Order: sequence, then structure tokens, then C-alpha cells
Amino acid sequence: MAHCILSQVPVGVPISCDSSFRRSVLKTHNVTLHDKSWTSGIPFNLKSANTRLRSRFVVCMSVQQASKPKVAVSPVTLEDAKEPPLHLYKNKEPYTATIVSVESLVGPKAPGETCHIVIDHGRNVPYWEGQSYGIIPPGENPKKPGSPQNVRLYSIASSRYGDNFDGKTASLCVRRAVYYDPETGKEDPSKNGVCSNFLCDSKPGDKIQLTGPSGKIMLLPEDDPNATHIMIATGTGVAPYRGYLRRMFMEDVPKFKFGGLAWLFLGVANSDSLLYDDEFSKYLQDYPDNFRYDRALSREHRNKSGGKMYVQDKIEEYSDEIFKLLDGGAHIYFCGLKGMMPGIQDTLKRVAEERGESWEQKLTQLKKNKQWHVEVY
Ligand code: FAD
Repeated sequence: MAHCILSQVPVGVPISCDSSFRRSVLKTHNVTLHDKSWTSGIPFNLKSANTRLRSRFVVCMSVQQASKPKVAVSPVTLEDAKEPPLHLYKNKEPYTATIVSVESLVGPKAPGETCHIVIDHGRNVPYWEGQSYGIIPPGENPKKPGSPQNVRLYSIASSRYGDNFDGKTASLCVRRAVYYDPETGKEDPSKNGVCSNFLCDSKPGDKIQLTGPSGKIMLLPEDDPNATHIMIATGTGVAPYRGYLRRMFMEDVPKFKFGGLAWLFLGVANSDSLLYDDEFSKYLQDYPDNFRYDRALSREHRNKSGGKMYVQDKIEEYSDEIFKLLDGGAHIYFCGLKGMMPGIQDTLKRVAEERGESWEQKLTQLKKNKQWHVEVY
């Protein structure tokens, strides 16, 4: 436990997310280690953990990870490349991959459906954490008759080893794009999103056309294994962070022994909409010195002005710590819907001004130092 700054600031873990514990996500990939299961049936009392965490540290710049059993991964040659794989399969010659599983990630009270989709690429389309795949849905492009549909990008939600730890699969976290007629309020299936519905409706064994991998902005910088990573997500924007966190806390990766701090802010509508909450809660239990997890449930939590709690309200709540961490070299990531950025930028600007700092200058510096990573869609 090196260089640990003690403080009494609460970590802000909401205690009412029982429904997400009932949902047993990813049942198909149970890995048992020393009588511990990484997936369903987490032996963890969140209420008591919350009480315990409230009196613990907050800012740890460089702590060693407690020694917890981790899952062996293969092939470790996936660590060897100096550069990330890029555009191995292009739009004109996509790779035909196979759906392994499709599971709903959300509970009945979530507005809209989000699915976890595991895809077998047979080790032919390797990728690094934070990259995206392209999917070409079947059918004709309505705007260009005779041509295939346009490719849609999806952030990869697994580590390079995939959910089975064997480097053969990649997982996506896909929200169904549904169209509601603004006048009647009724769903109009003819205008529903093509690719997201194709993916969420697909069945094990179905073939899909894959391109990529693509993207360098959201790659996890690994030069300093003790770095701080502040990850801000709305909804499916959590996908790349799931990959990072599996690499940091679940997998026994020979060349990356994470001993820094990963801090996830996740904004969703309500507790039924939480994504991968059981995995993240397990990290909180096992690595409280290396992981922090703050949830903003807009329809259940209130911000300090009594309004809906959005992810920027959580950022504001912890702005002093976040600014100190950024000054100390922390990386900050934003991923999710485009609409999340204006509110967050306004909050960061206001906080900077309150601290007597120029946000414009700070942002320029963060970008120059490669600490600022944004992928919104
Ligand atoms: P489309 O068919 O492309 O339709 C787009 C929208 O238009 C839909 O909302 C649809 O309902 C609406 N629409 C269709 N017809 C009409 C009409 N006639 N009138 C009005 N509206 C209409 N998405 C995820 O879910 N998860 C991710 O991890 C993810 N990662 C991404 C990463 C990147 C880098 C980018 C760029 C995007 C990412 N996306 C992600 C978004 C994804 O690429 C798609 O844009 C999304 O799934 C919608 O595609 P679709 O084919 O389902 O909808």
C-alpha cells in the first residue's frame, strides 16, 4: 500500500441495486477459481461493503493490488504485438463470424433493451481493449439499391481474450434502436434501427459480417501500470471499460499487472438498466484500493438541486478529487451518446472556474499530454 492518501469522503455506492444482483448475467461463462465464481451468485453483501468503504481511503495514486486469484488467459502471444491490430477486415471483404450467445443485460423496468452479444471470430480478428468492430447487417442499403448495408461500429466489451479467456471471441454491448412515432407515441417497427435489432435478435450459430478492428482513441495506455484511469460512461458507453476492467482485475495477464486506480462513473436510467453491475461490484469487493464505482441513476437518484442525477452531477460531486487526479497525470475517458458531452464539459468548465483555473487551458494541456480520450456516437 504505497502513497495512499486517506480521506473520509464517501465513495457513493448506492445500496439499492438488488435487482441487478438477481439478474445473473453471462451465466454461460462460469469460471471457478478457489471456490470463487466470477459470474453468478456473488457472495457479497453490498450494504456492509458500502459501510466499510465509507471509512476507507479515497485517493490512491499508486497502490499495489491485493493478491487475488485471477483467471489464466491464452494465447499470451496476444501481448506480443507492439501496435494494435487495425482494419484486418475491410467493408468489401468482411470476416464471417458466428454468434455464440445473445443475452439481455437489463431488467424489466429498464427503458429499452441492451444485449450482451458474444461473437466467435476464431482468433482471426484479434483486437485490443477499447477498439471497435464494424458489423454489416444483411440486406440492401435503402439509399443505394444493389449495395450492401452500411457498416455500423460497436465498441468491443471484452478484453482481447474474450469472455472465455481463450482469445476466440469478442463481446458487444448493443442497445436496440427503437423508433417511437412522436405523434402517437407508438413504436414504428419499420423505422427501428437495422443493425442493433439484427444483432439483438440473432441466435447462436447465426453468421454475421464483421470488419475491423478499428480505433486508437480508447486504447488503454499501459506504459504505467500504476496510473489512474477515470472512466465516464452513459449506457452502452460502458463497453470499452468492461474490457479494461477484466484486463485489470479478472485476468492473469503476464505483461500487465495493474496496481493503479480505475474509477468508473456509469450513468443509466434506473437500477434495472445497470450494465455488468455484478462484475463491477465484485471488483469493488476484491480490489477496494484499486477500483471505485459510482452510479448515476437519473430516474432514481436526485442531484444536489433536487433534479435528476446525471453522470455530470456525480463528476461535480467528486470534482476536487478528479481535478487533483488529472493534475497528477490521470487519464480520463468519455464514452456513450454524443449528448453526454455538453453537460459534462459545462460542469468541468464551471468547476475549473470555481477553482480559479482556465478550463480551456487545462483541456488543451490534457489533450497535449494524451490524458483526454473521447468516443461518443
Ligand atoms: P439505423 O438503422 O442506422 O437507424 C439509426 C436511427 O434512426 C435509429 O434510432 C432508428 O430508429 C432511426 N430511424 C430509422 N428509420 C427512420 C426514419 N425513417 N425516420 C426517423 N428515424 C429513423 N451502439 C451500441 O449500441 N453499442 C456500442 O457499443 C456502440 N459503439 C459505437 C462505437 C462507435 C465508435 C460508434 C460510431 C457508434 C457506436 N454505436 C454503438 C452506435 C451504432 O454504431 C449504431 O449507430 C446504432 O446501433 C444504431 O444503428 P442501427 O443500424 O440499429 O440503426
